[in-house]
Amino acid sequence: MIIATTIAEVRAQVREWKQAGLTVGLVPTMGYLHEGHAKLIDQAISMCQRVVVSTFVNPTQFAPNEDLDSYPRDFDRDCALLRAHGCSMVFYPLVSEMYEPDAATYVEILSEMPKQLCGKTRPTHFRGVCTVVSKLFNIVTPDKAFFGQKDAQQLAIIRRMVRDMSYNIEIVGCPIVREEDGLAKSSRNTYLNTEERQAALILSKSIFLGQKLVAEGETNANKIIDAIVTNICTEPLARIDYVAVVDGITMMPVKKITDNVLVAMAVYIGKTRLIDNFIVEG
Ligand code: AMP
Repeated sequence: MIIATTIAEVRAQVREWKQAGLTVGLVPTMGYLHEGHAKLIDQAISMCQRVVVSTFVNPTQFAPNEDLDSYPRDFDRDCALLRAHGCSMVFYPLVSEMYEPDAATYVEILSEMPKQLCGKTRPTHFRGVCTVVSKLFNIVTPDKAFFGQKDAQQLAIIRRMVRDMSYNIEIVGCPIVREEDGLAKSSRNTYLNTEERQAALILSKSIFLGQKLVAEGETNANKIIDAIVTNICTEPLARIDYVAVVDGITMMPVKKITDNVLVAMAVYIGKTRLIDNFIVEG
């Protein structure tokens, strides 16, 4: 596996691959890799001849009060996982490689879409995500890029950005990977102490409850929200950021459950903010 820390190294290698007629996949991550990332990488390897994984904790998607400094990092462990899964190249740049000190250009979707759900409490988050993903697309120029359904709003926003900016990149969404007990895998799960880890199960339990109600034929979005909120409130360590039912493409609230509706939540367990969701499929 090639370890690249500069944009120039990535470009030179990708140029060689493309000259040899090989297809290139990109999996953008913030490192501290787990089985959820590994599934994205496996998917990328099954669809592309070379796979680049970026592990970059992107400062522009964190607000000043958020966990940029404490975000978990372990590059050696990440490399071991990446090698085991057959990654061709890891891109691990310094912040100074990605952002000039006076960088002032952003990619931002100027619609309601990034203001919904996570955007309500994280108003600059998706601007940072779009900017860094756009830069990674320009650096790696992949044929396909892989994103998890775990971050459903992010996936929808990236799809919109790719459409609006005419990126010639296929976006592949991958299902949520969960721990055996249901908790969605996340690098942030490491913040949880034993008691909080147990309490965090209220997210997946509430997701499964919502799925059950939909499967039983409930079509009233407010009833689904009420049932989920009531369930989350049974957990004393949980504090709801949002529970919402939205259109799976536009992220705008809907009243009725139909195909491709997204049921999503963000919940604080102690100080840790966790997200989970499901898509209603026909
Ligand atoms: P992150 O490192 O948390 O920024 O995530 C990098 C990519 O991995 C994003 O596309 C996430 O949606 C995806 N991802 C993270 N956790 C999971 C999970 N549990 N299941 C599926 N995809 C995930």
